[in-house]
Amino acid sequence: MTGHPDVADRATAGFSCGYDATPAGRWAAPGRVNLIGEHTDYNDGFVLPFALPLRTVVAADPQPGERWTVRSEIADRPVDFGAAEADSPGRVTGWGGYVAGVVWALRGAGYAVPGARLAIASDVPLGSGLSSSAALEAAVLAALADLGGLDLPAERRPRLAQRAENGYVGAPTGIMDQSAVIRCRAGHALFLDCRDESVDHVPFDLDAAGLAILVIDSRAPHRHADGEYASRRAACERAADLLGVPALRDVPVADLDAALARLPDDETRRRVRHVVTENQRVLDTVALLRAGRVAEIGPLLTASHASMRDDFAITVPEVDTAVEAALAAGALGARMTGGGFGGCVLALVEAAAAEPVAAAVRSAYAERGFAAPDTLTAFPAPGAIRLP
Ligand code: ADP
Ligand code: MG
Repeated sequence: MTGHPDVADRATAGFSCGYDATPAGRWAAPGRVNLIGEHTDYNDGFVLPFALPLRTVVAADPQPGERWTVRSEIADRPVDFGAAEADSPGRVTGWGGYVAGVVWALRGAGYAVPGARLAIASDVPLGSGLSSSAALEAAVLAALADLGGLDLPAERRPRLAQRAENGYVGAPTGIMDQSAVIRCRAGHALFLDCRDESVDHVPFDLDAAGLAILVIDSRAPHRHADGEYASRRAACERAADLLGVPALRDVPVADLDAALARLPDDETRRRVRHVVTENQRVLDTVALLRAGRVAEIGPLLTASHASMRDDFAITVPEVDTAVEAALAAGALGARMTGGGFGGCVLALVEAAAAEPVAAAVRSAYAERGFAAPDTLTAFPAPGAIRLP
């Protein structure tokens, strides 16, 4: 999944070739994976992402006037827009919309956004569920904030980046991705309470435990993912209404059986059971990590996968195959990560087992005739930063 040469050098080269100038600075933001806590975000619940060592880098310099020019190594032509386009959500379409969205969100919050030229390079795979979109937003936001000397503390940035994606691009995502790529710390997972957006940095020292996280891009096409996401979300909201609670977060696992007995059908009961038990699994994972018992989170990861497969019904054969093959090859735990219907699987493995487990997944894929999966060994990296 990593590109060559170094992504920061590629951003600088893209800037120099595109604009025949040297950038004023470079800003980086990582992709992320969610260790555990799936479909809990819009239920006001808990998630536990960590930042990946794969990053998106933006090289930029300020320009007079309210005009923004953006190049990306994925595109042949630059995108260029002014204040009028930035102020009309949806006007800049395609990948440039993520950049225009950041300008729009900042302007909407009253910030004087400097005009700029930007060049983007990325090692985060696009559309695999590792949040290349939030990485792009966060890196652009950091660049514009620094170039303009904007007073914009880190805790305010996730909301603005999220607004860019929700309000300008029109993608209905929660706050997790942007919080993770902006606020994560090296060696830690980010325990995020999606109700009040409070965060806690939980030590997640894989090295000390002799462990690794293997991320497997299932490469499954995202079949009907948008419609299925909307229907799961609607089912959760209906269930919360029926139970008379603001959100499913308010059903503690101890009250689950009583809550299930009040629901009208088996499908709704299964959806609720996933969300309630998943929230508890996040809390249990956090408790184990705080106690330094990293290897013991494996069964929670595997239970999360079973819950997504059997109760929430959001997995597909490719991800189930990857999870089963990883576990059969000795992974301590494995689960799909992300919204479902494709995307990535993560497996907790002994460090020395990362390559054999990856090989086992590849051969299980080959046996079933699936496209060969990409794999990456991940560790908890820092969130968005300005590069020296
Ligand atoms: P994910 O965030 O899981 O990678 P999304 O569909 O949310 O998937 O976001 C992917 C989109 O973000 C891409 O299709 C593209 O429009 C935009 N994007 C992300 N990274 C880049 C990049 N480096 N250059 C240009 N566009 C990018
Ligand atoms: Mg995204």
